[in-house]
Amino acid sequence: MTDEAPLIALKNVSQVFDTKRGKVPAVRDVSLEVNAGDVLCLVGESGCGKTTTARMAAGLAPPSEGTVEFNGRDITKLDSAARKDYRKSVQFVHQDPYASLNPIRSVYGTLAAPLRKHGLAKNKKEAWAQAAALLERVDLTPADKFLPKYPHQMSGGQRQRVAVARSLSLQPKLIVADEATSMLDVSIRVGVLRTLTRLRTELNVGFVFITHDLAIARYFGTGGNIAVMYLGRVVEFGPTADVIANPQHPYTKALLAAVPEIDPEQRLAHDSGVSKVDIPSLTDLPTGCTFHPRCPLYRPGDCDTVEPNLSFVDAGREVACHVVSETVDAARGE
Ligand code: SF4
Repeated sequence: MTDEAPLIALKNVSQVFDTKRGKVPAVRDVSLEVNAGDVLCLVGESGCGKTTTARMAAGLAPPSEGTVEFNGRDITKLDSAARKDYRKSVQFVHQDPYASLNPIRSVYGTLAAPLRKHGLAKNKKEAWAQAAALLERVDLTPADKFLPKYPHQMSGGQRQRVAVARSLSLQPKLIVADEATSMLDVSIRVGVLRTLTRLRTELNVGFVFITHDLAIARYFGTGGNIAVMYLGRVVEFGPTADVIANPQHPYTKALLAAVPEIDPEQRLAHDSGVSKVDIPSLTDLPTGCTFHPRCPLYRPGDCDTVEPNLSFVDAGREVACHVVSETVDAARGE
């Protein structure tokens, strides 16, 4: 372990699934880092690879290629103590709280299980007190009222708060939240997002926050970074506020143009005229830049033959686009 190493680093990870339709390259050559207290939003349409990327970060799916590192060490080569530390440090919150909670386990049982398993609570009295404290952390109060309940006796927002409380039980440094608020009503969603935001600052917990909704990324990801994914690759990366205020990649512009609540002037400014053709299949990716069949800046000759890699367009800003890179190079006089 080195002090400088990021908490979690994905290094050139790819994930290829074998299916009846053939090989599906869900993620290709993605490199990302996140530290305790950081927030990294992964955004993109369904099928862009954001969930698969997050599952690899959480150790739930080994990459087909590349490595996942925890404090600078390949997670497949950790000794048992370091592996236990990794398991405790990185927790996953699923999209559907109803599916992720055991229906025949009370809230107390759900929260007490990891506490007892990892020796953080020696008896029921300690486990009850710690479970109650966890519920208070996620604003589910009075805790004594909720601890005996079962998932079907709670609302979706309450269940998701229990799932977040469970993820906090082992004092993680990073929570990987997969569309954690997308199944909640808007008013409840805002409350859960506020709670997650507070946990970031109070507990210095980092987040890998997966969402298809740039409005939510803008709300939750302020102060952190955003990685925009398209067909398994990161096409734009940078500080969330900068990327949303000044998107560079045509796909990021298209995502922003689709955010309904941005004011009309902003929407016009972001409207990039993306073609309405269907998103290509992962089993039959376009040649060159995979966005070229939809791209308003498409330029025959390189866009359809050479896949662009991420390159720096500004401090901390990377974009994978031939035209954007050339425009930036020209402005620099290169
Ligand atoms: Fe569009 Fe070409 Fe840039 Fe791809 S590389 S996003 S096709 S301009």
